[in-house]
Amino acid sequence: MTDQSRLKEPSFRESVDIMFNRAVALMDLSPGLEEKIRVCNATYTVRFGVRLRGAIHTFTGYRSVHSEHMEPVKGGIRYAMSVNQNEVEALAALMTYKCALVEAPFGGSKGGLCIDPREWEEHELEQITRRFAYELAKRDLIHPSQNVPAPDMGTGEREMAWIADQYHRMNTTDINANACVTGKPPHAGGIQGRVEATGRGVQYALQEFFRHPGDVAAAGLSGTLDGKRVVVQGLGNVGYHAAKFLAGEDGAKIVGVIERDGAIVDDGGLDVEAVRKWIAAHGGVADYPEATHVADGAKVLEHECDILIPAALEGVIHLGNADRVKAPLIIEAANGPVTAGADEVLRKKGTVIIPDMYANAGGVTVSYFEWVKNLSHIRFGRMGRRQEEARHLLIVMELERLSKDKELGWTLSPHFKEKYLKGAGELELVRSGLDDTMRIAYQAMAEVWRARDDVSDLRTAAYLVAIDRVAASYRAKGL
Ligand code: GLU
Repeated sequence: MTDQSRLKEPSFRESVDIMFNRAVALMDLSPGLEEKIRVCNATYTVRFGVRLRGAIHTFTGYRSVHSEHMEPVKGGIRYAMSVNQNEVEALAALMTYKCALVEAPFGGSKGGLCIDPREWEEHELEQITRRFAYELAKRDLIHPSQNVPAPDMGTGEREMAWIADQYHRMNTTDINANACVTGKPPHAGGIQGRVEATGRGVQYALQEFFRHPGDVAAAGLSGTLDGKRVVVQGLGNVGYHAAKFLAGEDGAKIVGVIERDGAIVDDGGLDVEAVRKWIAAHGGVADYPEATHVADGAKVLEHECDILIPAALEGVIHLGNADRVKAPLIIEAANGPVTAGADEVLRKKGTVIIPDMYANAGGVTVSYFEWVKNLSHIRFGRMGRRQEEARHLLIVMELERLSKDKELGWTLSPHFKEKYLKGAGELELVRSGLDDTMRIAYQAMAEVWRARDDVSDLRTAAYLVAIDRVAASYRAKGL
């Protein structure tokens, strides 16, 4: 039945176009410009052979460039067997809108390699990654000023470090070589806080949403994040960090975790750290002792909760299950987890969806900071931190002197002094920049949602803001 209904669904690429079309129908763009923005500029397919385990293995990879209204273009590289041109193009298009919405000065791009990374040893993956990077770099599809990849599903700091090193080897005199890719480990030109960035962005997005009682009421909810019941699908990098911060810092309760081998549920709240450790040790959640196991994990997308966080693959909420999803608020930590068909069903039901292009933009936002750091060749905070601390110390000393001289009897609490006297390091600055970005982007999107009668959802509002900015950029170029 589910499969039957899924057959009628548009592909991921078509889903993105449907959502785009719904937004441009409300805009006053010339048809030519509309078409120019929608289409993918180019998709490069590469097939390369690597000699491994005594035989030549051929791999297929893609790098798609959706829009070059700003350069470099930006977007991750995904390693998964399901990677295909349609998916890479949909993801590249989403990157264009995502970057525009959070004001990261990039065009949109995405890459992918058809591979199951778990099938290969580390040294083999390195060989494959270096070869893929070589193929892309020699065509400027990896380049600090033209195309800057980053991690995505199946890739992380390790792969980014290999890519950066490969680019260095091919461009020995490029002083900005480190800026050719983001998501590198901090000891190899990366930035503090990039690994947690997408999950942290999901947390900041929810915090901002809950600062607006009218928006919260539109989802049929009230109050703050404290005590809210959350179901997370996918406890990978994004889902894990989002769940960890929401539970540990905002008082939310993680009542369900969905993984490849089923789901676990505990309405009293799961211990995120313990679940994560269990998955790392046992490869799944199946025998986790502290919760109820549900073999058909997808069923838990329909679990009673306040907030549903799909943080894994695209298309997990589709025509076959959308009407049974009970969460009044969905935040799309993954790219494209709700199909265009499901989006319509949920909109009619009154479910509020915080859309992917906003919700998971924390990753590319911190990538932007990393890229700027690489180009400026200096860590954030290095020049100003001690100066900031010295000035704060002056105030504290003056207050203490006044209190003593005037016999006012003031004493500053040790907690205040400790916090106030500590200047911001790179991690604090990255978090502050990310928080600011998420707040401002939410406000731009929500303002359109609230102000326009013809806009009933945040996704359309997000598209309107993003497309408007991309269009302005094309117009400024004379298009
Ligand atoms: N792959 C991430 C995304 O989908 C990050 C992209 C980046 O940092 O460039 O947004």
